Amino acid sequence: MFTQYYSSRARVSEALRRLGERRAVATALRRFSRLKSSLSKRLDLEALAERLSEARRRTLAQLSELVKQAAESLEENGFQVHYARDAREARRIAEKLVEPGSLVVKSKSSAIEEAGIAEHLRSLGSEVYETDLGEYAVQLARSHRAHPIVPALHLSREKIAELVSMDVGYKVPPDPREITKAVRRRLREVFTKAGYGLTGANFISAEEGVIALVSNEGNIRNSTSLPKTHIAVAGLNKVVRDLDEGLLVIRALAPFSIGSRLPSYVSLIAGPSKTADIELETVVGVHGPSEVHVILLDNGRSRAWDLGVEEALCCINCGGCLNECPAYTIAGRAYGHVYKGGIGVVYTALTEGLEKAVEAGLYLCTTCGRCVLSCPCRINTPALVERLREAAARRGLMAEPHYRWLSPPRELQDDKPLEEQLPL
Ligand code: SF4
Ligand code: SF4
Repeated sequence: MFTQYYSSRARVSEALRRLGERRAVATALRRFSRLKSSLSKRLDLEALAERLSEARRRTLAQLSELVKQAAESLEENGFQVHYARDAREARRIAEKLVEPGSLVVKSKSSAIEEAGIAEHLRSLGSEVYETDLGEYAVQLARSHRAHPIVPALHLSREKIAELVSMDVGYKVPPDPREITKAVRRRLREVFTKAGYGLTGANFISAEEGVIALVSNEGNIRNSTSLPKTHIAVAGLNKVVRDLDEGLLVIRALAPFSIGSRLPSYVSLIAGPSKTADIELETVVGVHGPSEVHVILLDNGRSRAWDLGVEEALCCINCGGCLNECPAYTIAGRAYGHVYKGGIGVVYTALTEGLEKAVEAGLYLCTTCGRCVLSCPCRINTPALVERLREAAARRGLMAEPHYRWLSPPRELQDDKPLEEQLPL
């Protein structure tokens, strides 16, 4: 009855012992909040959030039609579209597309992690390289990302230097510039040899049939243009009505997550590389990929309406809610699973079920509501968490202290401390 709750408690206790990591996470979150509040003096973030949340809700109301329209528009533009009902199907599709033993360059993507695609391809003999510096460090540490935008938030520069040194085969000093130089040199070689680029998508526009990806490092450009095949994996809820809505997503991502204005690179991809320069005959595959596949991942998202948590599908995965979340500040990556924080717990319920959501921290949320104020889509995460708690309670998945409060009342004795007598 309490197995999942105990497991969540054990994860948090373990996280509380990682003092260095807790300090790093708390410092980074405070910094993002400061940067965001100083940016808000120059940018009207409230107006942006209002427009974005309205657009996301309009899209949500017609999501299934827009997903169909997106698939048609993408195919018209030469993409090959695959629909995966669950993570297993997504892995199967990826397995058919990537020859075993290949070299794959991968960008940071929660959808790829959610479906376990990279591990699956590795198990079939392919080498899959993380190309985002933070993810690369997390991969070397055999750890898990701590934040959707800054995955190695929990690793110190000394730790990253040590890991990179082992990978490149020479001593790299614990200096961010030197580490970056070493990683750049190492991955440059990999980019030129890779046969496949595996990425997520920040949005997919239904009207124009375009996928968009953002990055600060430039790794997305290399992953989507150097290999002969590009495979993008995205949750169904990454579909937006049109490029106008997509641009609102792009404009909100960096300010709400890390308090910076825009990501350095925004890539809009409208099909495979092609030319018609020779007598107007179209040849596919010039300098960029000749094949671009899009795997549209459902994996429980269509069940969101049954659980009454469909609002979660408006999420753009910016991580802004984490900056203000007291539970995440204390528990860090122990709060959530693939997706972090309260919204991460909601996604865990959709993609892996309620038991896993309890394990991921369904009972950690204080329902303080701070995340609602910091969300560019104004998602009411505490309300969604409460709905899931209700569903969990119906299934007997309670938090043990709550259950203890149900025990019959006893008469209090004056000679015993109160905490020994109350079921705290
Ligand atoms: S309501 Fe829950 S998820 Fe939101 S900030 Fe508070 S503790 Fe975090
Ligand atoms: S819930 Fe809102 S703030 Fe949190 S990741 Fe999603 S869009 Fe960003």
